[in-house]
Amino acid sequence: MIGNELEKILKEEDKIRTRMKSFFLVLQRLKDEMSDEQREMVEKLKEKRKEAIENVEELLKRAEENFISSGCQVFHAKNGKEALNYIFSEIEDEEMVVKAKSNVLREIKLDEKAREKGIEVIPTDVGDRIVEILNEDLTHPTGPAAHLSAEHIASRLSEVFNTKIPPTPEAIANFIRDDTMKYIMKAKVGISGANAFASEGIISLVHSEGNISLVTRIPEKHIAVLGIDRIVRSAEDTVTFAKVQSLYALGKPITAYVDLISGPSKTGDIEKKIVKGMYGPREMHVIFLDNGRKKLMKRFPELARCIGCGACVLVCPAANVAASLFGHSGHRSARGIAYSYFIEGLESAISRGLFLCTTCHSCSEICPMGIELPKIMKEIRREAVSNNLRIDAHERVVKLILEEGSPYPKKS
Ligand code: SF4
Ligand code: SF4
Repeated sequence: MIGNELEKILKEEDKIRTRMKSFFLVLQRLKDEMSDEQREMVEKLKEKRKEAIENVEELLKRAEENFISSGCQVFHAKNGKEALNYIFSEIEDEEMVVKAKSNVLREIKLDEKAREKGIEVIPTDVGDRIVEILNEDLTHPTGPAAHLSAEHIASRLSEVFNTKIPPTPEAIANFIRDDTMKYIMKAKVGISGANAFASEGIISLVHSEGNISLVTRIPEKHIAVLGIDRIVRSAEDTVTFAKVQSLYALGKPITAYVDLISGPSKTGDIEKKIVKGMYGPREMHVIFLDNGRKKLMKRFPELARCIGCGACVLVCPAANVAASLFGHSGHRSARGIAYSYFIEGLESAISRGLFLCTTCHSCSEICPMGIELPKIMKEIRREAVSNNLRIDAHERVVKLILEEGSPYPKKS
């Protein structure tokens, strides 16, 4: 099945070229911006992530207590279904909600499942909104529309909205902002993930557009879904996390916004009585999502250190070409395949491109957390093969060896 889809994608040469060009620009910035202090910061974060994963149970317990004492409601979801059920019970009768860009929300298929219930989920990130409106696949965790040229986007948006949008990044961004703001101002519920969260009961959200501040401030209710592997010890660690993430995701020392949120909006200014929902949300719900992460942390603890920067996607030859076919819907590239193994099982990992990895090691060379993705790919492959789960190409080679004594077809 993946073979047919791959053939189709290989014919989309323009998209492959645009994607590679965008990825290359970020890689150039990353190369230009790194200083000795930044390298030291990356090493420190690596140690902190290792320590947090080793003590995850203790830190999660502390985080829960702290979120509750700041007025949040905390829910533990074993899987995506439990997280979605909780979210839908909190959305109640609303027909539209807004969301921040989040790999975890993609992982649990929030948009798709909400649509089945008649709820419209409006993405507020520009790239996310474009791929949603144009019904395209996203190409990179921080640059979902990096494979689409301004000309292509403007012409398709003009068709969808029956208007004339000039083919420039400025005109497209202005159009998307005006359209999306209408939804943000109306929504009663805003849903986000979190780049990281601290055991002190704080979530951090890193963004450039300013949309996440609006999604988490304007609606009356904020629901944050936290992958439990994104835990760190302190608020300071979430800031280091944000700096390293933006360095490796965008090639910039820091994004325009780093929001730290620890609870709903409140005031105690009148007779010292607490009134919730002053200028921000009245309610904040925090969902701790496992969805295979406890198993992942046990088997591949180094993979749990991942900060989701996406640098491994930029350098990956398989991701550059196969794009969305290589990885999980929420997590691109080899790390996405490893996630799909824990979330959905071995067969899913195969269908998401386990055998497309060339084991070239480009990803492990660039990874700030020193994660050996090819090693992990090989380990999961060994398990697949010992369970007789092979792809068509393997079957053809096995047949040739058995019938002709060689993996290579005879020259005719
Ligand atoms: S595996 Fe490494 S490079 Fe890839 S997203 Fe995670 S931290 Fe970034
Ligand atoms: S080793 Fe695999 S996942 Fe890593 S860059 Fe090479 S092809 Fe991509």
